[in-house]
Amino acid sequence: MRFLMKFGGTSVADAQCIGRVVDILEKHHKAGDELAVVVSAQRGVTDQLIALAEKLPAAKNCSEVSPLIAHLRERHMTTLAGAAPDYTTEVGAVIEKRLASLQHILFAVHNLRELTPRSKDYIISFGERLLAPVVGAALRQRGIPSTVFDGCEAGILTTPQHGEATALPESDGRIKRKIGSLLSKEVPVIMGFMGCTENGILTTLGRSGSDYSASIVGAGIDADEIWIWTDVDGIMTSDPRVINDARVLKSISYIEVMELSYFGAKVMHPRSIDPAMRKNILVRVKNTFNPAHPGTMIVRNGYRDSRVVKALTYIDKVASININGAQMIGRPGVAKAIFSALADHEVNVMMISQGSSEANISLIVDESHLDAAVDALAFLVRDGIVREVTHNRDVCAVAVVGAGMAGAAGTGGRIFTALGKAGVNVMMISQGSSEANISFVVRQQDGPRAVRVLHDEFRLSEECE
Ligand code: ADP
Ligand code: ASP
Ligand code: MG
Repeated sequence: MRFLMKFGGTSVADAQCIGRVVDILEKHHKAGDELAVVVSAQRGVTDQLIALAEKLPAAKNCSEVSPLIAHLRERHMTTLAGAAPDYTTEVGAVIEKRLASLQHILFAVHNLRELTPRSKDYIISFGERLLAPVVGAALRQRGIPSTVFDGCEAGILTTPQHGEATALPESDGRIKRKIGSLLSKEVPVIMGFMGCTENGILTTLGRSGSDYSASIVGAGIDADEIWIWTDVDGIMTSDPRVINDARVLKSISYIEVMELSYFGAKVMHPRSIDPAMRKNILVRVKNTFNPAHPGTMIVRNGYRDSRVVKALTYIDKVASININGAQMIGRPGVAKAIFSALADHEVNVMMISQGSSEANISLIVDESHLDAAVDALAFLVRDGIVREVTHNRDVCAVAVVGAGMAGAAGTGGRIFTALGKAGVNVMMISQGSSEANISFVVRQQDGPRAVRVLHDEFRLSEECE
């Protein structure tokens, strides 16, 4: 079999974890499987890089740069010494060189007092740049030949949208040539989270983007299966940190996972399903710390049972915008004006709902896009197109996901009756056209309770697959 295996930040957090990763890979390698590997940064490193990069333009001095570099050196050198003792000199020199480049660019950001999207992407890719050579060395230490590639060298070509780049279709053929051709001889290790534009400028694929890298590379090498190794047994009926009796799903469909991750379920990156789905590649989510567990299979048509609802999630880093005014009634083009203005300001609109009277349109946007959205819509009041545009940060969006909801009458009624009984006030409702998702908005503090109420209502903690 040909596999793409991706290991997330917790799975590579230290030398012991990398030992587990190599055990898994060695077992498959010895069994004759062909393997390509995508790795993330060590847990927490990307957050540290982002925090410092964002601080530097306004910082009084560079005093935080050296401590971060020293911390990254210590962490990666310790991991290297534990995971690949024969390679400390060779790979240690690679790490030192990368740390020097990182230090340079951090000083430059401070001196210029400017963090451009391009330099930010370069900086935040260093978590993967520092870790991937350690994983490659750990494989060689066990006698498994391995070369390390960054996203660009692996063939991932992207749009120039820094921080949220999307893979271009040309990536497929390039990955096949660069990585696919090696698989009979070695186990290549590819840095997740990054690609490059046609001009070779580094881009990143969005937070948690290594899942997306895994799917892009898995599709490029025509993998039989893509395995996402993480720190939980699979995709669960809800975030186990919110719902303590959440249950692992045996299977789930591509569409259901897309809906879940779009609404904040951290277990997968929202765009990571698309490349696998295009090629109908089975994706498995498995636990590095419990490899014997079968995990969750993501397939075209996941298992359905009478419960109809499969999983729940919520996202609280959102804000609502309400556009009101009787002037909108019967006036063509208002929606077009609103959405064009938002698109011009690169605002991501997550949910839309319009009252049948047409006197109100409500939107949910990423909280980080709220200021841009408010600026974009200021003309509506100024030009007398609507009466007012108000916003509210104290909201969260809850998604109820299950492909079986399509055509099953009464699910909406059950959801909102249960919430009403529990005293949760619903501020806005929307149903995606896929009918695999009913989403609604509640006050931020009500999000976890809404999920709890519905998890019980649909008996999601009970095994019945
Ligand atoms: P990795 O570093 O391996 O990519 P992440 O932290 O990005 O791991 O994602 C795994 C985490 O996602 C889990 O530890 C869990 O807390 C969280 N999570 C949120 N929703 C779900 C869900 N529905 N099923 C499983 N895990 C979820
Ligand atoms: N290291 C990146 C992040 O923290 C990508 C990933 O982990 O998937 O977002
Ligand atoms: Mg992740």
